[in-house]
Amino acid sequence: MVDYITEHNISDIGNIVVELGQSKFRAKQLIEWILIKGAESYDEMTNLPKAFRETLKSSYPLKQASIIERRISNDGTRKYVIELADGCLVETVGMPSLKGNDHLSVCFSTQVGCAMSCSFCATGKEGLSRNLSSIEMVEQIRIVQDDFGTRVSNVVSMGQGEPFQNYDAVLEALKFLNAKNSFGIGARHITLSTCGIITGINKLSSETEQFTLAVSLHSANQKLRDEIMPRCKSQTLTQLKKALLDYVRKTGRRPSLEYTMISGVNDRQSDLDELIGFTEGLLCHVNLIPLNDIPSSPFKPSSTKTYKHWIASLEKHGVETTVRNSRGSDIDGACGQLKNTLLQA
Ligand code: SAH
Repeated sequence: MVDYITEHNISDIGNIVVELGQSKFRAKQLIEWILIKGAESYDEMTNLPKAFRETLKSSYPLKQASIIERRISNDGTRKYVIELADGCLVETVGMPSLKGNDHLSVCFSTQVGCAMSCSFCATGKEGLSRNLSSIEMVEQIRIVQDDFGTRVSNVVSMGQGEPFQNYDAVLEALKFLNAKNSFGIGARHITLSTCGIITGINKLSSETEQFTLAVSLHSANQKLRDEIMPRCKSQTLTQLKKALLDYVRKTGRRPSLEYTMISGVNDRQSDLDELIGFTEGLLCHVNLIPLNDIPSSPFKPSSTKTYKHWIASLEKHGVETTVRNSRGSDIDGACGQLKNTLLQA
């Protein structure tokens, strides 16, 4: 099996360099070539000794991730299927600001596929193939940045995968993106979205960077949540609420609760009442997400009337609520949908 350099984490590069008989400082040069300059081959890395480049070529081949499919939405959103060195495919999305400023947000994947099997999610249907390395996560950001020719200002881990099942590599990637001498993306503009893995929430509260936490709640009713998010069963709502309260106490930061609204499933009055109950005493922000319609799925998005009622009721209870602007729905925008469309074609 080929041992591609990009399949390793940023923190492994130091050991690789030393193992190949070089001084540790070469790691920084190597990482800069791969992740910032986007070098396509070791030959370009002219500040590395030639013999070292040759050893790298044979021991740790370099094959940068590449775009194999790109769709551009009417609103400017670009959705990519990206092929990693070993041929695995992931999805990444670039969303330019609709306000005319130069903001560019990237939604990146943290795993190939996902093990969580959420019933409304296209990625959930494909299962988990493997974790991404921190290099493969940063590669996605660089690819989008190059494609738009604009600096990436925001990133969010809402592509494929459950970031807290790949905690160390994800945090490493985010710290790299945040570093002043690399991408310099502000920590508050970096959002970690999780289905609610408690250990991850606890660990995140001890990190020094002020990354933003988003929790995909989707139901505040234990029975319904177990049905639509079956692999989250072991992380009960009671435990989740406690972890969030601890997180707020420790960090002073306000997490978002993501709620994808599915008509007749989790958008009834009782669901709203339970969501309001969940937010009681918790500093949080609710982000209602219009369901992306997956053709083979029985789930349908909620009506505009329902949204309006939910926003008004949540705000009445003092919970700041937004509805996510549904971007790129004309280009198979739902998580995992474009990749699956391609694989089935
Ligand atoms: N595993 C992480 C991040 C990946 S999913 C998490 O659960 O947060 C990113 C977000 O997209 C989640 O909030 C997820 O619930 C949502 N999502 C998945 N499928 C969707 C669909 N068909 N329509 C709208 N949102 C969806």
